[in-house]
Amino acid sequence: MAVHKIVLFYAFTPVPDPLAVKLWQTALAQQWDLTGRVIVSEHGINATLGGTVENLKRYVRTTRQYPGFADMDVKWSQGTGVDFPRLSVKVRPELVSFGAPDELTVDSTGVVGGGVHLSPQEVDDLVAARGEEVVFFDGRNAFEAEIGRFKGAIVPDVSTTHDFVAELDSGKYDDLKGRPVVTYCTGGVRCEVLSSLMASRGFGEVYQLDGGIVRYGETFGSQGLWEGSLYVFDQRMHVEFDDQTRSLGRCVLCQATTANYENCAAPSCKTLRVVCAGCVPGAAVQVCASCEPVSV
Ligand SMILES: [Zn+2]
Ligand SMILES: [Zn+2]
Repeated sequence: MAVHKIVLFYAFTPVPDPLAVKLWQTALAQQWDLTGRVIVSEHGINATLGGTVENLKRYVRTTRQYPGFADMDVKWSQGTGVDFPRLSVKVRPELVSFGAPDELTVDSTGVVGGGVHLSPQEVDDLVAARGEEVVFFDGRNAFEAEIGRFKGAIVPDVSTTHDFVAELDSGKYDDLKGRPVVTYCTGGVRCEVLSSLMASRGFGEVYQLDGGIVRYGETFGSQGLWEGSLYVFDQRMHVEFDDQTRSLGRCVLCQATTANYENCAAPSCKTLRVVCAGCVPGAAVQVCASCEPVSV
């Protein structure tokens, strides 16, 4: 039986002709029956794809032939074969939608002016050396952090990545500008941009977790500074790094511990809420706070 996997990778490198790369990537993914999402921009490539392990290996090997993609860090995880409903390959102004494409400078070494990359071990070493001074800064949407985050992390009030620029410009986090700040996200791609936006706004000592939470969890499981479950953007919805993981998620209806997300009952609303298995029937007919009619 075929073994299914998911690959996650990105590369920040100048891509002079994103449309040509899109067509090439579409042909490769179709040829090898891959599904998932690929975004190409003038700044590089960002992809999450599922398929059989043989086909994914062929695809990754071929993708590495593009000069700027040769050294990409590719993360592998277990797949089911039905992790993504379809294939989507798109050209976008940004690899991740911060709404600030003109703020980002990319050269053959990657993002210019981004945070210093730290391996999971180096993050732990930094915290061991500097203690409470170190701040973890969550680079994801706030809902993702509800089921897991780094110990003591600051979780910005963002519902999409687009909200980060306003959030940083609000002055809310200016007291962190003199402290070591470690940004982290799922696989590292959002921190490449976020850490550069922070550095250019005067955050003086910015680090980014290399390989993201995925790599940290693979390294330390639940024995390190990471607590709880990891939200993922495929049909698994969340992953736990070992069987001792205690999710930080609390059901919005009954406060029970859970890592389960359910959609808001309003058909047009994409809000995900943490809801335990027992409350799923009730949640299915209930809308989220922002869809509730305002009472006067
Ligand atoms: Zn519940
Ligand atoms: Zn809603």
